[in-house]
Parts: sequence; C-alpha cells; structure tokens
Amino acid sequence: MKIAIFGAGQLAMMMIEESSSLGHEFIVIDPSSNPPASKYAKHIKTDYNDIKTLEYIAAECDVATIDFENVEISALKFLEKSIKVFPPSTALEICQDRLLEKNLFKKLNINVTNYQSVKNVKDVDMFTHGKKSNFLLKSRRFGYDGKNQLKCSENTAKLNSLLLENECIIEEIVDFSTEVSLICVRQADNTILFYPLVENFHKHGILRYSIFPFSNKDIQSSAEKYANALLDHFEYVGVLVIEFFVTKDGKLIANEMAPRVHNSGHWSIEGSSMSQFEMHIRAITGTLKEYTENFKPSLMINILSKYPNEEKLSKLDTHFLHNYGKKERNLRKIGHVTLTKKNNKDLLEALPNFLSILDD
Ligand code: AMP
Repeated sequence: MKIAIFGAGQLAMMMIEESSSLGHEFIVIDPSSNPPASKYAKHIKTDYNDIKTLEYIAAECDVATIDFENVEISALKFLEKSIKVFPPSTALEICQDRLLEKNLFKKLNINVTNYQSVKNVKDVDMFTHGKKSNFLLKSRRFGYDGKNQLKCSENTAKLNSLLLENECIIEEIVDFSTEVSLICVRQADNTILFYPLVENFHKHGILRYSIFPFSNKDIQSSAEKYANALLDHFEYVGVLVIEFFVTKDGKLIANEMAPRVHNSGHWSIEGSSMSQFEMHIRAITGTLKEYTENFKPSLMINILSKYPNEEKLSKLDTHFLHNYGKKERNLRKIGHVTLTKKNNKDLLEALPNFLSILDD
C-alpha cells in the first residue's frame, strides 16, 4: 500500500524501518528540512494543510497517518473524504486540547484530576483557594513535554503571560506513586491488542526513561477498561497510548492520550516480538495479527540535548543505541538507548551507569 505520514520525525522513521518487511511505500510530509524520516521515504517539504499536497496525497495514497499531534484537523478532514485516515480526525481533535480531552475522559468515566478552564489570575485564585502550590496552569493546546505549563505558585507576571497568550486550564497536582502508560492497538475488524503497562519517569516534564513491564493485574485491567472505552468511542484504528498517574492507593488517573505511536513504547523494538511501530502500520493497513508474547524486560532511556560519548557507552552492558540524526538542542529528543535483561531488578542495577553518561 501507499502510506502518507504527516510529520517525518523519529516516530515516522521508526514506523518505516520497523515495517520494512511488509512491502509498503511511504510518503512523508513535513515543513522542516531533512527530518529523520526523509532518509527512508519521499519527503514533501510543506505545511501539513497545503492544499496541492493534500490533493496529491488523496489521489496517490491508500491511507494517511501521523507522527505528530499538531497536524491541522482540516488537513485530516479533507483526506477523510477520499482515503482512509488513522487516527480519525475526531481523536486528534480531542487530544490537541487538554480541556476537551479531560471532558471526554470524564464523560467516559475515566478518572482525571480536578481541573477547570481559567481565563485570568482571578479564576486561578478562586480555584486554588490559597493552595496555589498544589496546582498547575497549563495551556489547552501545544503543551507537550512540559511546555506551556507553570506551577500556580509562580509569580503573577508569569501566570499572566501564559494566560494572555493561551487559553488555559488549571489542574490539581496528583501526588502519584508512579506514572505508567498503556500502549494498545485496534484494527477496523475490532482486533484489539494491549501490551503490559510500562512505567515512566519524567524530568522537567520530559520522559527520561521507561521500564517495561509494570506488572500489576488490577491496574492493568483498569487501564484496559479505560482504553476500551476510548477505542470504542472513536472507532479507533491504529496505536493509541494513554498516560496515567498511579495514586498511592493504587488507582489510575488519566493524564493524557496520544493517538499515535509513543516514546514510552520504544522499548518494544527490542523487547517484543512485534514493535509498536509494526503494530501501527499493520493495523492501519488491515494486517494486524496476534503476536507471540515473548516480552523481554526492557529499559529505554532517552538521549536528550546532546549525543553521548559512544566509547564510554560501549564499556557498559550490551544495549541498542538509536540515533535519530537530529541536530543537538537543549532538551530535544535526539535518540534513545534500550537494554533488555532477565528481570527489572537487573535493569534497575544498570540504570545509574547509563544515566551518568547520558546526563553527562
Ligand atoms: P504533560 O505535559 O501533561 O504530559 O505532563 C508532563 C509530566 O509533568 C507528566 O508526565 C508528569 O510527570 C508531570 N505532570 C503533569 N501534570 C501533572 C499533574 N496534574 N500532577 C502531577 N504531575 C503532573
């Protein structure tokens, strides 16, 4: 099949690499020069909603998907008239706006933290009742990787500037014991597969590392129940990821969903018999099948800001280094490292040595 991917970053690159045996042809659309996936596919360097490009994709391709959440909804809606588009534009529309996303979670009985839409500092004061340090102010849109969010205890000038430039919500900080994500996939014939949960550790709001699996039967089944509600709601096709907080009494609170392959699923390249990337491409082309569950306990650490000293890394335990070929920039995700071991204890023992080089 001919597949268009909107966004040509590392996620698109890994979708193409990981599905290379399936015989598809890819076109990637991205306004930047030399994005990671452009090495592996025809790259159209343009805005996502360029009408000539959309007409070309509608005429040439069988299916379109995304590697980036902020593709204009109008672009997907245009394509939906003539070709298959996964995720559906309805799912993308919800996840682009934290308020709509939380409202939907609530409607589907998925636990969320207390939240409210706010317009000004007076609204913030009313909602926080003098406990500003327990709340975050977040922009409704364009707020990934901890961007566009502040603690409400920040000074009024900073809060004001976020509020003036963005529509915002305020949300209560969850006193969580850990964070997990559920990676699931659905195909149009209602084949649904779930990976076991993965545990995620963030620094400055950015994923630092993930450890797979997070084994807890009750939490796994609550997460799957929530995911089923979302998959049904959207008649979703492709990989969907939901990020949760786990409270100290073992309850799940949904933070957000990603209607695409996700950073917390990168371990699956080495740690599963079918990676999240292959799953996604199979699901959107109707060739998803059950896979053998020979999961390996895995640790995935992001490479942020600058590439590590490979000689130093090579002296550590056997690992897989993924370099996205992106320019170094402060806190930018430019690669990742994955290790697999017999058990999570061995992974945790290896972690400090890797972090000491990657945080260098
Ligand atoms: P987000 O931008 O919403 O994905 O948030 C990035 C990270 O910031 C999360 O994974 C958490 O580590 C932290 N965070 C965001 N919102 C909250 C919250 N309401 N309570 C506690 N931590 C949060």
